[in-house]
Amino acid sequence: MQTADPLELFPPAPEAAAARIAAIDPRAYARTRNALDGQVTRLSPYVTHGYVHVPEVVAQLGRRHILRLQDRIVAELGWREYFHHVWRHLGDGIFESRRPPISDAAYADTMPDDILRGATGVPVIDAAVRALYETGYLHNHARLWLASYVVHLRKVDWRAGAVWSYGYLLDGDLAPNHLSWQWVAGTLTGRPYLFNADNVSRNAGQVPGWRSPGTAIDCGYDEIERIARSCEVLPAEPGTHPGVTPPGLFAAPPAGLLPQADLPSLAGRRVRLVHPWSLAAPGDADLRIGVLLAPFHRRFPWSATRWHFVLARMREACDAVLFGEPAELDAVLAAAQCVALETRNPGYAEWLARRVPSCEALPRFFDDPPQYCTSFSRFWERIAANPPL
Ligand SMILES: Cc1cc2nc3c(=O)[nH]c(=O)nc-3n(C[C@H](O)[C@H](O)[C@H](O)COP(=O)(O)OP(=O)(O)OC[C@H]3O[C@@H](n4cnc5c(N)ncnc54)[C@H](O)[C@@H]3O)c2cc1C
Repeated sequence: MQTADPLELFPPAPEAAAARIAAIDPRAYARTRNALDGQVTRLSPYVTHGYVHVPEVVAQLGRRHILRLQDRIVAELGWREYFHHVWRHLGDGIFESRRPPISDAAYADTMPDDILRGATGVPVIDAAVRALYETGYLHNHARLWLASYVVHLRKVDWRAGAVWSYGYLLDGDLAPNHLSWQWVAGTLTGRPYLFNADNVSRNAGQVPGWRSPGTAIDCGYDEIERIARSCEVLPAEPGTHPGVTPPGLFAAPPAGLLPQADLPSLAGRRVRLVHPWSLAAPGDADLRIGVLLAPFHRRFPWSATRWHFVLARMREACDAVLFGEPAELDAVLAAAQCVALETRNPGYAEWLARRVPSCEALPRFFDDPPQYCTSFSRFWERIAANPPL
């Protein structure tokens, strides 16, 4: 799973997304997806950044396989659209706990140093942290284990964990990320996600270095639950190695990544604004201009790898790329007729609403019910009542 260059694993090109979709075998996915070495798609960086949207994924899959609503891969794509449904209804409410935490502990609002360095002494956690830094990707189970350990066993506020992991994940997407952290914490549904060393052993597959027998998580669920609901904070395991230095997170594109081409004249031209969540960047306008708004990136900084993943595609697809404050971009784009895909990312959403008369709706495969569905099962019941497959 690990590689010296994460972009070898995730080439920043639409063809790479298409190849991943072509490789999906829905039956094998359903059978093996829980295991670290199962046949998961690793499609999420491409979906998050809009190289490809969920309806195209389903359409491409449907050309090769007979798909049913009950297929696991379809339901997982449904989860993604469910989280975006929640975001539409709650807006910035996704950044706050929907329910109280499950214990009276004083949850820390920063990440402990040993976790940041992958030096907790619990192999599953240290392996997950290193994989996050080295690849920008984590299997769903690894995300669950990491989040559960951080929140329930180390008593860190889920928001600190969510912002930290978001910056390194190539697929970091505020709705699935923050809502999943809340789901693990128990502040979304009231039920926390807990795990132990047996659970890791069952799902580690043949991947070496993740099993964690003989560590603090090697106990029964009753004990894990007792710790989670108490104020107890597990210490790092003794005799721990020093770990790794966390890679930097950047509030602006690292030096040399932003293309320096002269800006063509924009007056009266139809310009497609290509923001980081719309990298399919259709060539249906006179010009394509990449746009990066500084306030968002100050609030949610990205790893150098993630900047590379976004900017490589922008450089390839766009006539120019702009990074700056909203007013600076306004001044440059004043005379252009702009079109763009909608996004809910804070700062971008408000700026696009002013800049573009009517943004194109984010393509969805499943209906977005007008009434807020407080759980995935309610959302899914509504989809099943009028199934698109
Ligand atoms: C703590 C935590 C944080 C997460 N943060 C993110 C995030 O920032 N961005 C993100 O896209 N997903 C996130 N997820 C959901 C899920 O882990 C990833 O979507 C999935 O692991 C991506 O890998 P994959 O493409 O190989 O998934 P696959 O299992 O191959 O699934 C195919 C596609 O379905 C969607 N999908 C699958 N599982 C989920 C899920 N549980 N929720 C939402 N969509 C899903 C993704 O678009 C994914 O690409 C998070 C989960 C947890 C527990």
